[in-house]
Amino acid sequence: MKFATIIGGLAIGSAVLGATAASAQEVNVYSLRQAFLVEPLFKKFTDQTGIKVNVIFAEKGLVERIKQEGVNSPADVLMTVDISRIAQAVDAGVTDAVDSDILTASIPAHLRDETGHWFALTQRGRAIYASKDRVGAGEITRYEDLADAKWAGRVCTRSGTHDYNIALFASMIAHHGAKDAKTWLEGLKSNLARKPQGNDRGQVKAIKEGECDIAIGNTYYYGKMLDDPQQRSWAEAVNIVFPNQDDRGMSMNISGMTLIKGAPNRENAVKLMEFLVSDDAQKIYAEVNYEYPVKPGVEWAENVKSWGTFKADQLPLTEIARLRPDAIKMVDQVGYNE
Ligand code: FE
Repeated sequence: MKFATIIGGLAIGSAVLGATAASAQEVNVYSLRQAFLVEPLFKKFTDQTGIKVNVIFAEKGLVERIKQEGVNSPADVLMTVDISRIAQAVDAGVTDAVDSDILTASIPAHLRDETGHWFALTQRGRAIYASKDRVGAGEITRYEDLADAKWAGRVCTRSGTHDYNIALFASMIAHHGAKDAKTWLEGLKSNLARKPQGNDRGQVKAIKEGECDIAIGNTYYYGKMLDDPQQRSWAEAVNIVFPNQDDRGMSMNISGMTLIKGAPNRENAVKLMEFLVSDDAQKIYAEVNYEYPVKPGVEWAENVKSWGTFKADQLPLTEIARLRPDAIKMVDQVGYNE
């Protein structure tokens, strides 16, 4: 059986996993996250424990692959981003519960599955980006405001069916109920300056270019744009607004991990998972993508700190996963992408 290392769909190397795989000091990770995000962590883990980490990287299809491989799957741990993809793995029946005091003590309850099938490792907020020139401080403070008629023709977002927006819309259903959430989404749609398109950064670019004044985007893109000479001016054209600070807090999403059912290196897999919530690993993992650690007390990256602290919505991520189909239906019903 071949265990190839794949980056961006290209096989760049491979190692053979034989029948003795389970007895070797190693652990096999399937990662839907990019190599630069996780490799520094795995290197540190190997340095500390002597356990080798073999990784398969892919942008999608790893859950299907684990399913296909069935009992022969070499996968021990799946690392991914967005609660919807984690829920997809759990729903597909490929995950197993982990009972670990270290994990439950390190990760707040709303950021892990109560039966131990998944654990968050980093968090990101779904922020509002507002034009520095055309939107006054305090003029928009809540997600609910996005539907206010005063923003008619002034809002830009990516596709309504993208996982990031579906999670936000699911949180609106959780907090307001299906009927009011739908009215809100109709209001937001009617405020759009253009048909939903592009990615989160593309919306901030559109603000810089004067196409719109308000956008929705994940927090870490603020730092990534500031780092990029070509995109720096986009970020400099906006203020990052942490929504709903006087009530429930900013809507959060996660990256996370699951143990794979029948993991051939289960013991090492749990060791790796516990390592990933150590203070060191939490700091490295959050910092590399300008995200927030899940473990309370772990220091934030300097630039992330400079954006300010905020109140985070404590809505359990399981609720967002549960309401996802309703959110997708709602996007369709209001013709959000049309
Ligand atoms: Fe992203």
